[in-house]
Amino acid sequence: MVGTRRKRQEEEEEEEEEEEEEEEEGDYEQIREKRIRENKERMNKLGLLALSRDLNLRSQKPSLALENKTKLISQPKQPHSPERRSSRLSTLEPVKYSEFFAQRGKRESSSKEKKEVEIDIPEGTKPEVYTEEHEKLLGDSESDWELYVDGYDEDGDRLYDPIKGETCHQCRQKTLCQHTSCIKCELPQGQLCGDCLYTRYGENVMEANVNPKWTCLACRGICNCSRCRKAKGWMPTGNIYRKVLKKGFKSVAHYLIQTYRSEKSSEGSDAENMVDKESEASADTTVNRRRSKRALRS
Ligand SMILES: [Zn+2]
Ligand SMILES: [Zn+2]
Ligand SMILES: [Zn+2]
Repeated sequence: MVGTRRKRQEEEEEEEEEEEEEEEEGDYEQIREKRIRENKERMNKLGLLALSRDLNLRSQKPSLALENKTKLISQPKQPHSPERRSSRLSTLEPVKYSEFFAQRGKRESSSKEKKEVEIDIPEGTKPEVYTEEHEKLLGDSESDWELYVDGYDEDGDRLYDPIKGETCHQCRQKTLCQHTSCIKCELPQGQLCGDCLYTRYGENVMEANVNPKWTCLACRGICNCSRCRKAKGWMPTGNIYRKVLKKGFKSVAHYLIQTYRSEKSSEGSDAENMVDKESEASADTTVNRRRSKRALRS
C-alpha cells in the first residue's frame, strides 16, 4: 500500500515539474482543472507527511520520496530515535550488552538447559589456571545491583560525558555513573562502573564505595578485562555474562576462577556442587526484569 502511494507521489512530482511549461501554453481551462487537482493532491501530501513522520519513528528506512517531500515544504526534520539506539549499541564495544537483547525472550527453564550452555573462549598463548588463592580474592555482594539504570537516561541510553564522565577500566566507556576507586593503587585501573563490577565480578559498586578496604581487581590480580587478559597471554572472554548466569555462576570472574580451577583438581564434579550453592536467581531476576522493560519499549 505504501509502495503504491510512493509511486503515485513520484508521478505527482513529475507533474509539478511540468506545471510551468503548461502554464506558458496558455490553455486556461486545462490549467484551472490542473490547479484544482493539485490542491487536492497537496492535501493528500500533507496527510502523507503525517504518515511519513509516523513511519520515520517506527522504521529505520524512511522513504526517500517522503523525505524529499518533507524538505520541499521545509518541515523540521524528525529525529530518528531508532538510529540513536543502534549507535549506542555500536559504541559499547568491549562489553556488548546487546547480548542481553539477543537473548531476550529466552528464559532458562530447566537445569538441563543449564548444562547445554557452551562457553567458548579461544585459547591464548599461555594456559589459564587459577589457585585457591585466586578464589579467595573473589568478591560478593550483599544486595543486588540493577543493571542498565545507573548512568542511563530514561530511554535506557547510556549517559556518555567526555568531560565529567569517568572511564571504566573494564568497558572503557566514559560515562556518568558511580565508579569504584581503589584504596591501594588509586589509579584509573581501579575505576569500574557498577554494571561491569556486577556482571564481571559479582560485586556491588555501592558496597565497594563504602568499603574502606576495597581494592581493585587489577590490584587483586583477577581482572578479566580484555587488556589485562591479553597481558597474561589469555584471550578476551567476550560477552559471556548471560551464559555464566545460565551455568549458575554469579559473575564472569566466578565462572573463570571456579571452572578453570576445579576442572584441574577434580574433573568438574566440584564445579557442579558449587553451581548449586550459588544463588543465581537474584541477579537473574534483575536482568530479566530490565530486559522485559526494554522489550516493552522497543
Ligand atoms: Zn564498565
Ligand atoms: Zn587498584
Ligand atoms: Zn583490567
